[in-house]
Amino acid sequence: MAQAVVPAMQCQVGAVRARPAAAAAAAGGRVWGVRRTGRGTSGFRVMAVSTETTGVVTRMEQLLNMDTTPFTDKIIAEYIWVGGTGIDLRSKSRTISKPVEDPSELPKWNYDGSSTGQAPGEDSEVILYPQAIFKDPFRGGNNILVMCDTYTPAGEPIPTNKRNRAAQVFSDPKVVSQVPWFGIEQEYTLLQRDVNWPLGWPVGGYPGPQGPYYCAVGSDKSFGRDISDAHYKACLYAGINISGTNGEVMPGQWEYQVGPSVGIEAGDHIWISRYILERITEQAGVVLTLDPKPIQGDWNGAGCHTNYSTKSMREDGGFEVIKKAILNLSLRHDLHISAYGEGNERRLTGLHETASIDNFSWGVANRGCSIRVGRDTEAKGKGYLEDRRPASNMDPYVVTALLAETTILWEPTLEAEVLAAKKLALKFLENHATFHSPVNILVEHHP
Ligand code: ADP
Ligand code: MN
Ligand code: MN
Ligand code: MN
Repeated sequence: MAQAVVPAMQCQVGAVRARPAAAAAAAGGRVWGVRRTGRGTSGFRVMAVSTETTGVVTRMEQLLNMDTTPFTDKIIAEYIWVGGTGIDLRSKSRTISKPVEDPSELPKWNYDGSSTGQAPGEDSEVILYPQAIFKDPFRGGNNILVMCDTYTPAGEPIPTNKRNRAAQVFSDPKVVSQVPWFGIEQEYTLLQRDVNWPLGWPVGGYPGPQGPYYCAVGSDKSFGRDISDAHYKACLYAGINISGTNGEVMPGQWEYQVGPSVGIEAGDHIWISRYILERITEQAGVVLTLDPKPIQGDWNGAGCHTNYSTKSMREDGGFEVIKKAILNLSLRHDLHISAYGEGNERRLTGLHETASIDNFSWGVANRGCSIRVGRDTEAKGKGYLEDRRPASNMDPYVVTALLAETTILWEPTLEAEVLAAKKLALKFLENHATFHSPVNILVEHHP
């Protein structure tokens, strides 16, 4: 299984395979390439070169796959939270006395925030509040993954807790009545471990130019499909609202979509889907990066397009509501950009299906705009918009809440409109620096 994952892994497997055939025969007559299951980490494989240690692997697998439900009611809950960088995920496990259906049945917990960059050493306790639960695809049974957010012992959300603010926005009665839907396209890049160079790329070199890789098949065009597919099934098992996957334009880059999800659920589902992806890549010995532009130059960056609609946008006359939302978004372009991910300026260049970070634009079916409206939405006069600006490393709690706030709760102020107009005028002058002075224009316009 795992050895089919990536070229880098194939090298390791090749090394093991190169041992004398007698060793394979001694190992229970099994060929390494067809092992029934495997953690896929080189650690196990290196260990498993003798008969005795192969027995260890089998017993280890048996323990990992063991169904504990006939023997105990107790379950394992993996408490997951966002760490101090705002993008790293952390987790730890604890035993819960019986299966649970709702996060409210779970106890709060704590961790050492000084080890995650989230608290000073002398007062380091951060409290975890369980907020959403998912089935655990790694442990199976009644075991669960728990999305948590983070508080001080006094009950204040800590600065990196972006969920708390998002939950406030999504419980505002005006927002609730608009039933906001989000469909998030999470792009990511797989790297070969140790060299940190994309999967399928020759180490120290480049593959052929982009073109053949998007949605491609074939071992010279598609790299890491097993990871994408394992993740897809694991997400479905966990109860994540995953809606599809595809290979991306840059080789070694993939996308999956989650949604449409309502309100705060969009953020919970994306974070847990990222956690599952980190766990799967960990097992495959491949590095996951959400950097928005992993390779400089003529290579696509990685985004997190956010498709968005409200109830009024989905109903007849919705296109007018969408246009009003786009006006609001245009007036708060800078605010949104500042909340859409670190390093996004390296990605939003105006090339590679992006709009320049400095200019807000929108269009029907235009992938070079900040906001795209689908042909279908235009034709039907209702539907949704796609915000193409968010980077792959954006925080979905921040992005979804800000979209709802700007389009449902916020009304353009005179100040915002004047500011936007000034910005436009300045840009015009910059672009026409060598153009005539206003006086000249006036003169020229006289016959
Ligand atoms: P693209 O054509 O940009 O690659 P994708 O098919 O990858 O688009 O993703 C589109 C996403 O939009 C999907 O997750 C889908 O569920 C979501 N979506 C569809 N309809 C709506 C809607 N009305 N509101 C919000 N999201 C929607
Ligand atoms: Mn897509
Ligand atoms: Mn894409
Ligand atoms: Mn898209």
